[in-house]
Order: sequence, then structure tokens, then C-alpha cells
Amino acid sequence: VIDIKDVKKSFGDNHVLNGFKMQLYKGENLVIMGKSGSGKSVLIKCLVGLETADSGSINIMGYEVTQLNRTLLDKLRAEIGFLFQGSALYDSMTVKENLEFPLRRHEKRFEKGMDSNAIILEALENVGLAHTLNMMPSELSGGMKRRIALARTLIIRPKIILYDEPTSGLDPITSKEIIELMLRIQKKYETSSLIITHDVDCARVIADRMILLVDGINYAEGTYNELVKAIDPKIKAFFK
Ligand code: ATP
Ligand code: MG
Repeated sequence: VIDIKDVKKSFGDNHVLNGFKMQLYKGENLVIMGKSGSGKSVLIKCLVGLETADSGSINIMGYEVTQLNRTLLDKLRAEIGFLFQGSALYDSMTVKENLEFPLRRHEKRFEKGMDSNAIILEALENVGLAHTLNMMPSELSGGMKRRIALARTLIIRPKIILYDEPTSGLDPITSKEIIELMLRIQKKYETSSLIITHDVDCARVIADRMILLVDGINYAEGTYNELVKAIDPKIKAFFK
């Protein structure tokens, strides 16, 4: 569902991506690991058109992202869930209003008999937080906010979910809950997921396949069990 070839992206002299390539297959959980500043967020932003790659090709479900006009980009974005790094809820809006936002933005997809309240409630039930409907983000814990952000991602019933550091800043138990939630969601909606993380435990549990991003390229690829046994020091560094 995603095919990236030879993507390059620089900011001035800072060459962040130097010919990155990857494929995401239908229904799989692909984890990309890379250290801080290695370009993980830049990569994910290139995928949804928030950044433009300097060269290379990015094909998502048949659309060449690098050549899309505004209208087609919006159409594609309506199929892709994006969980931002952090939770990025609007602090001045209630949980319900936070979830109404993507619904309104992509309302064309839902206009036939749309019951927005039912969609919002189902999304919240998926993350076990239906009771927070009228609460403000400031009344929620970090883990709850992350789950609400995940519910917001589900609102548009995405075929692909892009997760940028879904467990960062959470304690190990809350992280585990988020990971279990991600697995449950994937099973229920048969989504394909790209998960950006530097959380080794997250990768071990969730990854069908992994790519290690080093120096702007896919330095190594394989399953967790394959990579954890590698003797290459740059690969070993990820699993310490
Ligand atoms: P982290 O694990 O800390 O989230 P990351 O791998 O997501 O790190 P990126 O945010 O992708 O890192 O940033 C990669 C590099 O690109 C960094 O050196 C950063 O300074 C640079 N960069 C990112 N966005 C911009 C921008 N809009 N303008 C200039 N430089 C940028
Ligand atoms: Mg990042």
C-alpha cells in the first residue's frame, strides 16, 4: 500500500534522507527505528505531504504523493490516519470537539446518513474512554490523551495508520496498553500500519518487520528476532 523509492530530503546542508526506500504491505505492522534527529518525523511528513521530498518517489495506494495537487492530496489524507508525535489535542476543546474536527474536515466521506455522535462514541469506545466525551484534555492523564489522539485517528476509518512515536513519554505499563490497543485496532479494522519509534519493547511486540534508519538510508531490514542477533555495531546499538 506504500512504496517509497530513493527519497532524498535536505534542509540546507543537513542531508536528512539520502535515498530511503521502503514498502508497506497490506495488513502489516512495519516499524521504523532511528535515533533522535535521524529523520523519522521528516519521513512521515513527506508521506502525507506536510514536507516535500527533494527527489524520489512516494506511492501510496496508487497515488504518487510527490505529484499530487491539493484536491487529490486531501482525498488521500482522508484515507490515512496520522498519530502525531505527542498527542496534539486542542487544549481549549472538549474531547468530543477534538474528535469532531477530523469528521468535519472529511465530511464528504460521511455525508450519507452520517451520525457523527455515533461515530465519535464508537471511536472512544475503541480506546475504552467513552466516559471522557465532555472532558477537557487538561483533565486527562498523558496515557489517556494518547488514547484520545488514537481515537481521533480512527474517526476517518483509515486504511493506513502512521504512528509517530506512539509510546514516547509514557511509562512502561501505559506504553503496553497503547501497544495492545494498536494491535486490537489493526485486527478490527484490518489497517496497515507504519510505526515510527525508538522504543525497543514496542518494536518487539508489534513489528512484523523492521527497518533501521541510519544516515538517511534503510541501514538494515528484518524481523525483530533477526535484527536483535546482528553483530554489526550500528545495528547492535539499537537493542542496548
Ligand atoms: P526524534 O526521534 O527526536 O523525533 P526524528 O528522527 O523524528 O527525531 P526529525 O524531526 O525527522 O527527527 O528531524 C531530522 C532532522 O531534520 C533534524 O536534524 C532536524 O533539525 C531537521 N529538520 C526537521 N524539520 C525541519 C525543518 N522544517 N527545517 C529545517 N530542519 C528540519
Ligand atoms: Mg520525530
